[in-house]
Amino acid sequence: MGVHQRITCDRCGTLIEAGRTVLRAECGPHRDRFPTFDICVSCCEDLIAWFSAIHTTQEAHANVGQNNV
Ligand SMILES: [Zn+2]
Repeated sequence: MGVHQRITCDRCGTLIEAGRTVLRAECGPHRDRFPTFDICVSCCEDLIAWFSAIHTTQEAHANVGQNNV
């Protein structure tokens, strides 16, 4: 109570001052050990870019399939 908790990014280790993002594992082999991940703004943007890349790739495949009709 009243203790200022210093939170560091679980990905890059940077001390998170603001813009903390918490990811929660719904399932997986390491869920018991790492149920949540604290992510800094920089790493969060990296993850968004990563997810966007996957989404773009899947859309590209879908478009190829539609073009074959
Ligand atoms: Zn980070």
